[in-house]
Amino acid sequence: MAGIIQDSFGRVLDYVRISITDRCNFRCIYCMPADGIEWIPHGNILSYEDLLFLCRALTDLGVRKIRFTGGEPFVRKGFVPFLESVKEAYPNLRIAVTTNGSLLEKWAERIARLGLDSLNVSLDTLDHAKFLETTRTGDLERVLRGIDAVRQSGGVPLKLNSVVMRNFNLDEIPALVGFAAEKGATIRFIEFMPLDKDVWSQSQFVPAEEILSRLPDPALWRSCPPRDNRSEICGPSRYFQNSATGRMVGIISAVSDHFCHLCNRLRVTSTGVMRPCLFGNFGFSLFEALRGKDSEALREGIMKAVSRKPQRGETGIPSPEEGRNSLQEERHMSQIGG
Ligand code: SF4
Repeated sequence: MAGIIQDSFGRVLDYVRISITDRCNFRCIYCMPADGIEWIPHGNILSYEDLLFLCRALTDLGVRKIRFTGGEPFVRKGFVPFLESVKEAYPNLRIAVTTNGSLLEKWAERIARLGLDSLNVSLDTLDHAKFLETTRTGDLERVLRGIDAVRQSGGVPLKLNSVVMRNFNLDEIPALVGFAAEKGATIRFIEFMPLDKDVWSQSQFVPAEEILSRLPDPALWRSCPPRDNRSEICGPSRYFQNSATGRMVGIISAVSDHFCHLCNRLRVTSTGVMRPCLFGNFGFSLFEALRGKDSEALREGIMKAVSRKPQRGETGIPSPEEGRNSLQEERHMSQIGG
């Protein structure tokens, strides 16, 4: 029978985000520096065999949902067959994927057959020039074709994630809401996070309340109760429903109010480091236990990470006087796994 992971503050941790690669074909401005980062050598990255072993340990401990992220997960060879083997081994596990969408078109049919719990596509702008500017290497047209291919294949709950930045896409919020409605997707607007001092800019930060005020017909949006059981509205988002259209929009106040008391998540980097909190600079390596297929050591490592989960994550958001150099350590989003 499955166990349960509970932290020192009584929170049940049943959701794990696993980064399967640090590599990405984009160079998003809020995610990594322009000249990229040094890729981790292949030998230090968890193999698919290691990852399957990790999934077993996690499901035995009561984890009910795993999200695979990157970098960009679809750039790793064999990712879709790997997802198929996870699904086959753990049919009741909820599986989600976060992607930049650039490689979706090729895999749409196989993704549709997988029965994913959700597919989250990052989409910050609908403007081709701005898309290229923010991703540095991306082609918006390919992403849009990927979204359409997934829709046409059917059966995958689609979410769009937009990081909102001042002087970049704040004015696009109504267009993005309209686009999501047209594609039958749920859109979530995410506060720009101070994770990486190389790319963080306080002047571009837009708080959740301001994002909310920029929705089309702002008076029509009603807050949905947190932790409603509907799967589309679980998680760190606060959801709002339009009283005229019934459409839902999520707002993730990752900085101004990160809902720590409801936090049910753990993260594992592509090198097998379990990080109990996105905003903590600490983690516990599970790599040796995974390589050695040592279930006991793995369980111990997981529980050690759990014991260090803070009651509340410190965003480390610097004051204007402190400036961005006060951010403690480089934490590139692509390395943490978003
Ligand atoms: S800051 Fe840390 S504890 Fe708070 S919600 Fe985020 S991951 Fe969970």
